[in-house]
Amino acid sequence: MPELPEVETVRRGLEPVVRGRTVLAAGGHPSERFARGVDVIGSTIGAVSRRGKYLIVHLDDGRGLLIHLGMTGQIRLDDRPDPDPYDRAWWDLDNGARLALRDVRRFGRVEVVGNDLSAVPRLAALGPEPFDPDFTPEILWANLRRSSVRVKTQLLSQRPVAGVGNIYADEALWISRIHPGTRIISRARAISLHAAIISTLSQGIANGGTTLRDYRTVDGGTGSNQHQLQCYGRAGLDCLRCSTPLRRTIVDGRGTTHCPQCQRR
Ligand SMILES: [Zn+2]
Repeated sequence: MPELPEVETVRRGLEPVVRGRTVLAAGGHPSERFARGVDVIGSTIGAVSRRGKYLIVHLDDGRGLLIHLGMTGQIRLDDRPDPDPYDRAWWDLDNGARLALRDVRRFGRVEVVGNDLSAVPRLAALGPEPFDPDFTPEILWANLRRSSVRVKTQLLSQRPVAGVGNIYADEALWISRIHPGTRIISRARAISLHAAIISTLSQGIANGGTTLRDYRTVDGGTGSNQHQLQCYGRAGLDCLRCSTPLRRTIVDGRGTTHCPQCQRR
């Protein structure tokens, strides 16, 4: 599933090529997850921003096109589009290009929202942006202390901080030596986790995201962060710190990899 680094990479690739373009036509899959994209016909695109794992394409009339990539979503921009049966929503721009959300498994979503993004429930429910100065170690600690749910599950909930999914949660917990099943986090560990979240997300962005299967950049390329992962996907292989084989477990239903030596309860 695309997480913050993948969505941010898409945002950076998308903004310069769609900014200033007007939507001439649009279409999409009839399900309520994708059908509303047609509401932006006639609007001109401004900036493209991101909140958590959501892309926000801002329109000149103050509205925003909210796009979530779900599990398998890809944003494609083609000058001479071939019909693709997996394009769930598409927008034809005034330079002849087609912007499309290709999504094989259809867990993605397209929504048109008003100019007050804080009034959009999906966005208001998200925790702080990890690169926002307001996201301090103290805030992370305070957010984690609100609940005794396991730390990995809390991270996936998007409430302590926005944008972290399964890959970067496993990475950040390994970096900060925290067992993913931990329920009560000390202040010292929250400080370590805060730094680890920022470093692993920064590395993911610098590497253009992690491509395990579906994720692609706007120009159809792959990210390279999959070659830099230190924990996620390495179950059975030796820990890069202590050489103990990493272990795969299930934490609240989600496959999780951790080091039984470095990440003790
Ligand atoms: Zn280890």
